[in-house]
This record gives sequence, structure tokens and C-alpha cells, in this order.
Amino acid sequence: MNKIFLYNSLNRKKEEFQSINPGRVGIYTCGPTVYNFAHIGNLRTYLFEDFLIRVLKYNDYQVKRVMNVTDVGHLTDDQDMGEDKIEKKSRQIGKSALEIASFYTNAFKQDLELLNIIKPDVWLKASETIDEQIDLIKQLEEKGFVYKISDGLYFDTSKFPEYNKLSHQSLEDLKEGARVCKNDEKRNSTDFALWKFSPSDSNRQMEWDSPWGIGFPGWHLECSAMSLMELKDSLDIHCGGMDHINVHHTNEIAQSEAATEKKFFNYWLHGAFLNISGGKKMAKSSENFLTIENALLKKGINPLAYRFAALQVHYRKPMEYSEESLIQAEKGLDSLRKQYLAIKSNAFLKGRVDKYFKEQFQSAINDDLNMPQALAILFSVFKSRLNPDDKLETAKDFDKVLGLSLDFEESFNNNEVEIPAEIKSLAEKRQIARDEKDFSKSDSLRDEIEKEGYEIEDGPDGYKLKKK
Ligand code: AMP
Ligand code: ZN
Repeated sequence: MNKIFLYNSLNRKKEEFQSINPGRVGIYTCGPTVYNFAHIGNLRTYLFEDFLIRVLKYNDYQVKRVMNVTDVGHLTDDQDMGEDKIEKKSRQIGKSALEIASFYTNAFKQDLELLNIIKPDVWLKASETIDEQIDLIKQLEEKGFVYKISDGLYFDTSKFPEYNKLSHQSLEDLKEGARVCKNDEKRNSTDFALWKFSPSDSNRQMEWDSPWGIGFPGWHLECSAMSLMELKDSLDIHCGGMDHINVHHTNEIAQSEAATEKKFFNYWLHGAFLNISGGKKMAKSSENFLTIENALLKKGINPLAYRFAALQVHYRKPMEYSEESLIQAEKGLDSLRKQYLAIKSNAFLKGRVDKYFKEQFQSAINDDLNMPQALAILFSVFKSRLNPDDKLETAKDFDKVLGLSLDFEESFNNNEVEIPAEIKSLAEKRQIARDEKDFSKSDSLRDEIEKEGYEIEDGPDGYKLKKK
């Protein structure tokens, strides 16, 4: 097996990747809180994770990837205060928490599809793992890490001496960072909720009985419970955006390692932000939060142009959003596909993946996912003196990692049609109409899709589009 080097936030250096089980990798990627659409900043993180998964698969690893869907417990204030984000949305728009979670989960799955992101092998909702989360709290309670105050049960971070091992910040700095909106009853400002009690004066839609009283789990707990439950003996890589380092992942490590007395994950990988003008992180709370719909589809830009743009910036470097840069990325992608098709029209025999270029490509992607370099190597293949048959085969091989659907004609013949962005957009609008139970609108959108020569099939995991 070829060596893969990954930058591990835990040790702050590039390290050779060694999986716990030979040939198999377990990955946990923190998923969305489904009270709103994902913005393209969030999707940059999911793209980086997709690059990682494809690189591991290209290196012949069998990958099991788990992702959580937070449908309960994420509060408006990250210091375990405020309202549950989904219950708040429910109050604002008059739909149930369940309807909201299911609507935005479907929208998220469609976004992944539009960006050619390989879907996780296991999806789990926070609300489906309440028993496992309660069990984890019980283990922590037995070991003396838990205390109770008026609004819930908290983890005592002062009892976990390695609390700052991921953030590498001094405990004083971490405490300072956590001081905003302080809960006076907490023993330390970095302590975090494991179980929150339901308010006595109102009913929550999402609440469960527990040995400590009716309530709901703290946000960090679900990721620990799901990782331990699904990945057991293959806790290899845990990923997320850089904003998760100081609080969410730090807390996940503390509660998991305190409970199991074993190392949680070996590798922690974090993607840098997508920023909007002036280096400001794109956030759900900011006004110009852009979705696939408003940043790409509505502007007639192919969503894969965003994937192409993300490939051009190393995942640990900030990426700046501008409409212009997406337009340029689309031109770049078009030109790449045209070059590919021109080569294809001159290729007649089954070619071979060129060994020299493959080695270069693999050493670029295995060097902490150097995708900009990998793209440059693809361009060199196109410009090279290789015969068209080998050029084509080499480009196809590289596209397993790049995921740009260079060969959309071939996938067309294989019945795995490259669905045009406009059709995908119609299908998404139809799904929204269905979720809102506006069936006459969803039927007329289905008619429009069929008129264009595509079929839509509904299933438990959302819909599928096919060429008729
Ligand atoms: P959330 O739904 O807020 O929990 O975020 C989902 C994922 O997106 C997490 O891994 C975050 O770290 C990541 N994320 C949030 N904002 C950005 C951004 N502007 N750029 C890149 N990743 C982000
Ligand atoms: Zn998480």
C-alpha cells in the first residue's frame, strides 16, 4: 500500500496514516444541524471530507463513514444556553420539529448529490441514539465526571487533565473563550451540558425520560455516542470544520476518553473556512449566507463548478467566495471537459493508465490531499504526448478522486446519466413542494421534468432522477 500523509490537528503535524485495521478505515464526519439549508461554507467542509474519502478509496482502503444529523439538542448559543435551533424554527414557521428536520435533511442530501459527494455509509439522527447517549452519561457519572445544576447535568472539565490536547490552547485561554454568556452555576466556564432538563413551564416537542429527569441530550454527546457505537474498533479519522476544534471536538474527546479510558480517534482533520469578502467566515447567522440554490443554480452556474473551485484551494487554506470566482471556475471546468471530449473523439482502443503520471498524481493526493497539485497533473496529462487512448484512461482514473464527472457522455451510456443542473433544480423544487404538501405544485413540476425527458422516483432516502 502507498503511504498517505495527513495533517493531524491532534499533534499539529503531517503524519503517515496508519489505520487500526489493515485495509479498512473508519471515519466520522460531523453532520448538519437540520434547521436550515447548508450554506456553501458548510459544503466546503463536506467537499474536503469527500476528497479524503475518495483518496482513501483510491488507495484501496475499504471505508466506513458515519455522519450524524442533529435534529435535537443544538442550542442557539453554543454555551449550552438559549433555545433549541429546531424548536425555535418550529415556533417561527409553525411546522413541527420533525417536519423541519426531515425537510432540511432531504435538502442536505440533494446538495451532496449536486456536488458529487459520496454519501455516508451510515446516517444517524441524534434523536435515534438517545439510549446510547444516556448510557454514556451513566458511565461518566459512575466515574465522577458529572454534576447536576438547575438546568441539567454537566461534564466537569477540570477532572479531565488533557482537556486542551486538541486545541493546544492554555486552559486559561479556553476558559476565557468560553466565558461569554456564562452560566453562574457551572463549576468551570469550559464545562458543558450532557443532559438538559426540559423547561418546567413549557413542553418541548423533542424530550425523553432519563434517570435524571425529562430532557434532551447536550449537543456534543451525539457524536461521541454514534462514533463509539458504529466504529467501535476502527476509530481512525474524525473530521469537521476548524471551528469545531476548540469546543465541539475538544468536548467530544473529553467525554469519550473519560468514559472509555481509551484514546478516542487517532487522527483529527479540520478544513479551513469559506470566507466572504474581507475574510469573514460564512455563517448561518450572517445575512449573506449562500446556498447551492442562490449562489449557483439560480445564477445558472453548474454546482460542480463549486467542487472545481474547492479543488483549486488546499483544504487547510482559507477560500474566498465571490460570484466572479465561481464564474471563472465554471469556465475552467467547461474547458477541462471540452479537452476531455476532444481526446475522447480521437481515442478508439482501450488505453492504459499512464504509470508515470499516476505516480505523480498519487503522491500529490497522498500528501495531505494536495488537490491543486493533482489538478495540475491532470492538465499536464492533457498537454502531454501520450496517445489519446492512454490519456483518456488516465484522466478517467484521476476523476475517481476529483469527482468532476469528466465523462458525462460515458455515464450517459451506462444509464448513470449526468443530470443537467436545471433538471436537478426542478427536482429539488418539487421535493420542497412535496414536503410542504403542495401536491398540485409538485405534480406540475414532475410534468415539467418528464417533458424534458427525465423520470423521478421517490424512495425512503429521497428521490432519484433517471433519463427516460
Ligand atoms: P453546522 O451545520 O454549523 O454544524 O456546520 C456543519 C459543518 O460546516 C461543520 O463541520 C462546520 O465546521 C463547517 N463550517 C461552518 N461554517 C463554515 C465555513 N464558513 N466554511 C467551511 N466550513 C464551515
Ligand atoms: Zn460532531
